[in-house]
Amino acid sequence: MTPTGTPPTLEHTFAELPERFYQRLEPTPVAAPAPIRVNRALAQRLGLDADWLSSPAGTEWLAGNAITPGSHPLAAAYAGHQFGGFNPQLGDGRAILLGELRDGEGRLFDLQLKGAGPTRWSRGGDGRSPLGPVLREYIVSEAMAALGVPTTRALAAVASGEPVMRDRALPGAILARVASSHLRIGSVEYLSSRKDTEGLHLLVDYTLQRHFPEQTTAENPALALLNAVIQAQARLISQWQLLGFIHGVMNTDNMLLCGETIDYGPCAFMDAFNPDTVFSSIDHGGRYAYRNQPGIAHWNLASLAQALVPVLHNDAEQAVALAQAAVDTFSDHFLQAHTEGLNAKLGLGEPQADDAALIEQLYTLMAEHATDFTLTFRRLADLAHPVPGNPQAIGEVYKLPNAFDPWLAQWRERLAREACDPQQRQTAMYRANPVFIARNHLVEAALAAATDNADFAPFHTLVERLAAPTQWQPASRALALPPEEGQRVYQTFCGT
Ligand code: AMP
Ligand code: MG
Repeated sequence: MTPTGTPPTLEHTFAELPERFYQRLEPTPVAAPAPIRVNRALAQRLGLDADWLSSPAGTEWLAGNAITPGSHPLAAAYAGHQFGGFNPQLGDGRAILLGELRDGEGRLFDLQLKGAGPTRWSRGGDGRSPLGPVLREYIVSEAMAALGVPTTRALAAVASGEPVMRDRALPGAILARVASSHLRIGSVEYLSSRKDTEGLHLLVDYTLQRHFPEQTTAENPALALLNAVIQAQARLISQWQLLGFIHGVMNTDNMLLCGETIDYGPCAFMDAFNPDTVFSSIDHGGRYAYRNQPGIAHWNLASLAQALVPVLHNDAEQAVALAQAAVDTFSDHFLQAHTEGLNAKLGLGEPQADDAALIEQLYTLMAEHATDFTLTFRRLADLAHPVPGNPQAIGEVYKLPNAFDPWLAQWRERLAREACDPQQRQTAMYRANPVFIARNHLVEAALAAATDNADFAPFHTLVERLAAPTQWQPASRALALPPEEGQRVYQTFCGT
């Protein structure tokens, strides 16, 4: 807990690891920091004084202009497979870890400033971020958190008061990002590619301690870590799939060991269902398309396993066998999490033999008729228990095509096979099927208004609405509807 009226109290457990894991440096101050938004709910959860964070002193602090005396900011080293190719040297090129925060329950969180200036790993980049990507990350990461998806969070966004040169001059901004940690698959790959076995042991122990404390006494710590990450990632990717979320840049440096979503560069939620959907402007081959996400996660976890081989077993052959056996469990973990999630979305209780076929038919229909991914499921919640005057029902704004009728009849027959209170089932379905997601055309419009006209109202409106994604609000119908032909956004840019 931080006393009111003072900067947050920081810890520095990562900075206690060997110097070769990071570069100690402070953020480069910016010209004229100005507040954009402070996440009061998150501040409160972290025991921080939101009023102070919103004050001029807090804004300077969030911009990296006022480093708490005695603290140890740093940029972390990491490597990564980017679009399949290994880069041994990535690292925080525009993000600086101020330190760690401890919440009321004793859990530790990284506090990182993204866009805080160049580091050893900037590779010619300016270490800065334009306003647009900062707002995108704020909107989408907070939307994911509200949807119950493990994710890094946005504590605050501040304007830097400095232009950032991209294809044109853009306003600059800094995001204060909170994560259970920023340890990535790429962090392990970094040490492994340098044949730093001692470093690998230290990193494994540190990561277990921080994220999987129940595994710290495991006989084989590296294997325990590998298994824990595989399971966390299988659950995470299943949640993405169930929400139609497309990450867009699933490089191994963008996959956290703690299993939180990170890097909201070219991400987007799918509107019309099409499993081949890709948004990223740099993903020409469709490597990170919606349908490929589980396979790519599997591939990334194989990279993690490979990187851990030197610490999995003294005997190389046995180490590889352990790694392979662990990676082979991914598909089962994914399938289990995905099936549980789908059953919740569709109101199915105990699994039955013909469920898989029923679900496949639904997806085929959705693809054939290009129905809206989010609203299709939401509408099913209405239809699970149609009662007049239901305030949650969205029938006035979204209906399924008639071609769905035979399927709906089959699904109702399936629901009727289970003794279950229909109203309770419907309530559970509403919880599993959001009506408000961070639609790409709305996100883009909010970014454009802020960047081009310094109008932050659409950004704030969107953030506030997305905080309660499963509560239907007819007055906000424009924020629930899919884009019209002219509003559709086909590509998003990392905007680095
Ligand atoms: P990302 O695409 O955000 O996953 O970043 C990939 C790598 O590029 C990381 O090492 C980043 O730190 C680095 N990077 C991205 N943008 C910048 C920038 N504007 N300045 C310096 N480094 C950057
Ligand atoms: Mg990244």
